Amino acid sequence: MAACIFCKIIRGEIPSMKIFESEKTLAFLDISPLSKGHSLIIPKFHGAKLHDIPDEHLHEVLSVTKKIALAQGIQDYNVLQNNGKIAHQVVDHVHFHLIPKPNEQEGLG
Ligand code: 5GP
Ligand code: ZN
Repeated sequence: MAACIFCKIIRGEIPSMKIFESEKTLAFLDISPLSKGHSLIIPKFHGAKLHDIPDEHLHEVLSVTKKIALAQGIQDYNVLQNNGKIAHQVVDHVHFHLIPKPNEQEGLG
């Protein structure tokens, strides 16, 4: 979609800190992180809500989310995915938040 912020990131029209890219999937750091390493994992297929995305794309997004958690070596984290304004979705392109939860010794970094 022409006006979609995340489609612009996919096309390289808006810069991002990419951490993974394949034919179907892109992962990049959230511009406003809730913790150090907060990333967003998205299908390149544009769809606003979870039920708009074909399974094959969703499966890879989840698999990439797992791989990033493993690569980051994090043990405690939240995976969050909002659908619709009332559910706090701001960007209307499906995205999974991967939010590391550091322990108190590590702080927010
Ligand atoms: P939502 O509330 O829709 O689930 O979350 C959208 C997320 O996208 C927010 O955490 C926000 O910080 C992030 N975000 C919005 N615009 C940009 C952008 O242009 N670049 C990046 N990297 N993240 C963005
Ligand atoms: Zn889009």
